[in-house]
Amino acid sequence: MPVEKRNPIPVKEAISRIMKQNVSIRTTKVDLDESLGHVLAEDIVATYDIPRFNKSPYDGFAIRSEDSKDASGEHRIEFEVIDHIGAGSVSTKTLGKNQAVRIMTGAQIPEGAESVVMFEQTIESESTFTIRKPFDHLENISLKGEETTTGDIVLKKGQHINPGAIAVLATYGYTQVPVTIKPSVAIIATGSELLDVEDELEPGKIRNSNGPMIKALAKKIGLEVGTYQLQQDNLESSIQVVKDALSQHDIVITTGGVSVGDFDYLPEIYKAIDANVLFNKVAQRPGSVTTVAFSNGQYLFGLSGNPSACFTGFELYVKPAVNKLIGASECYPQIIKATLMEDFTKPNPFTRFIRAKATLTPSGTTVVPSGFNKSGAVVAIAHANAMIMLPSGTRGFKAGHTVDVILTESNAFEEELLL
Ligand code: AMP
Ligand code: MG
Repeated sequence: MPVEKRNPIPVKEAISRIMKQNVSIRTTKVDLDESLGHVLAEDIVATYDIPRFNKSPYDGFAIRSEDSKDASGEHRIEFEVIDHIGAGSVSTKTLGKNQAVRIMTGAQIPEGAESVVMFEQTIESESTFTIRKPFDHLENISLKGEETTTGDIVLKKGQHINPGAIAVLATYGYTQVPVTIKPSVAIIATGSELLDVEDELEPGKIRNSNGPMIKALAKKIGLEVGTYQLQQDNLESSIQVVKDALSQHDIVITTGGVSVGDFDYLPEIYKAIDANVLFNKVAQRPGSVTTVAFSNGQYLFGLSGNPSACFTGFELYVKPAVNKLIGASECYPQIIKATLMEDFTKPNPFTRFIRAKATLTPSGTTVVPSGFNKSGAVVAIAHANAMIMLPSGTRGFKAGHTVDVILTESNAFEEELLL
């Protein structure tokens, strides 16, 4: 068979082809305790005002501010303490002239009072105290509704539920949370050279590291891996394995076999299952043969077998697609500028992605490659928290130059990738 001619497309175009597909986002409800890491399927509205009542932000005395207006160092004003309440209690008393209620942080301001004097601002006696300054109307009061009022949208559909969102949901009494359903994932590591982790090494064979790595990458973004297997380079059985995986999962990730070698069967597998190949060559290093196909709302990611390329493919293509499938509003990697701390003089005919370590320093962010960085490298992936992104058609980057860096630990809202 003649070698198939492939036309490389820019990374930006590849991502946008993935994100243009029509997917259906499924929703469900989960217990609040189970909702961390899911994406909200609906806007969440405030079911009441917060604070729910005027309350004291300090331990002190609630007073009528008008009674304090003549207070000064020379003319201290005395108040009579008529009640004592802690958070959770409500005073039944109404304040009269020069009366006060001893009140703790979080307690509801009693009837008639509209400012709070902190303990530190008083001199206390048995059941009285004096103050030396006037207090304004509403001074030291947390006002009803000052943070949110009933009906406010406090969390937007598409938000990843973080611990803060859990606090918000708890505040408003959401025991059940509307979330999107996460896609299920199959991982198939292809290659007749592959051994399992527990296997003894044999001549010509290597241990499968991509499978466990992809499983971990998937787990890190909250996905469960349903099917996980090694697959020999055999066309017939590979077609069957991919078909089976597609019948059970929303995402099928394969590694290896995407090139134009004699045993690289992925292109033929895609043909056999009639998947719509979105691209099979990207102007990037490593991983130029990364292939993504779409079939009936399901994604097939054909990542390169080379570990660094495989990792890069997951970060660039699988992550945004997963975010799309879960209806997340933040889909893309965060890109920052950083100062390169080592020369990188190789030419970059394609956009180059280098596993790297970014560090925030007082004088800005620095970045260095995280180790030996060929596409087959494994160790540098483990020491990376970022990828340096060098535009195609460039060369001769020197220490001190500013470069673009993808943070591989977080997502951003903007469609910013994209050189
Ligand atoms: P391929 O994409 O199948 O041409 O493989 C490219 C390179 O990656 C070859 O050196 C393979 O041996 C290696 N490789 C393929 N699959 C894996 C894997 N699952 N784990 C580690 N290395 C792999
Ligand atoms: Mg192979």
